[in-house]
Amino acid sequence: MESEYTKERALGLLSAEGDALEDLYRHADMVRRNHMGEEVFIRGIVEFSNICLNDCLYCGIRASNRDVARYAIPPEEIVDIAHAMKGSEQTTVVLQSGETPGMADDKLGSVIRRIKGETGLAVTVSVGNRPYETYRFWKECGMDRYLLRFETSDRALFARLRPGSSLDERLRCLGHLKDLGVQTGSGFMIGLPGERPEVLADNIILCRSLDLDMIGIGPFIPHPGTPLRGTKNAYHDDPEMFFKALAVLRVFNPDAHIPATTAFDAVFPGSGRDLALKRGANVFMPNNTPVRYKKEYLLYPGKPSVDESPEECTEAAVARIESLGRIIGKGPGHSFKKRPGRGL
Ligand code: SF4
Repeated sequence: MESEYTKERALGLLSAEGDALEDLYRHADMVRRNHMGEEVFIRGIVEFSNICLNDCLYCGIRASNRDVARYAIPPEEIVDIAHAMKGSEQTTVVLQSGETPGMADDKLGSVIRRIKGETGLAVTVSVGNRPYETYRFWKECGMDRYLLRFETSDRALFARLRPGSSLDERLRCLGHLKDLGVQTGSGFMIGLPGERPEVLADNIILCRSLDLDMIGIGPFIPHPGTPLRGTKNAYHDDPEMFFKALAVLRVFNPDAHIPATTAFDAVFPGSGRDLALKRGANVFMPNNTPVRYKKEYLLYPGKPSVDESPEECTEAAVARIESLGRIIGKGPGHSFKKRPGRGL
């Protein structure tokens, strides 16, 4: 019943402490098990370009950060990376970059087409806002899924942190993707400066109302090369809030794929993603970007595994998942919402 998924309930759960907090984590884990099973899907990220025309205040690769050596991995090399992923436990390639509308959209279409045709891997794209026609073109090329985080549901905060862009525009793009039948993912940052628990609850409710196939969230971590250096996460004195947010997100979105994002490891080195998998998450996304590029794709400081090869990242992911007694997901791991008889 929709009346179970209110802002008041979300706020109540976000304030859980002691036994109530343990109950919340147990419940989130049970909801994950009942709706998504014991499988953890491994989806390999390829950060194929750190060139971005935008200047989001929180982001390490924002256009104004002159300390970043910009790169764009040649198409042939991206396809080679996808070939190398085939045969590992990864069944999806996630193509991620900064936002450069129009600059290389045709080339990206060719890359998607080749990866689908030559490897059969599922293809997820995450390159920001685009017109409907571009999303349609990429879908025709074989794109299965798209990730486009809204980052915050607070319109004023969004406008301040993402100059030249608006929450409404972001939501319009998400609507286009859903209209096209692309499996659609979004999500938000936890603890942006100025965020209150009410906004966090609204973020969770917005994810539910968007009926998303995938939802990625992670703690805000101030980057020294951005205007937000020197600020603190809104929950810096209560980092448990990061896991509470994840658990409530799972309770409110039982059928969505939810990754244990790397930002959890940056805040809780070595254990963050394991805890996330125990508290609602069911996807792990090892980094398949070659080491020579990876260091220049730092959205936030403390990104884990920057010196590890794609193979090492994938092996580590498998070991962590198995150590939790979970099963490696087989097949593409498409949205559970796409099962016969279910709408988008
Ligand atoms: S968050 Fe995305 S769009 Fe914003 S500056 Fe960073 S890469 Fe560019």
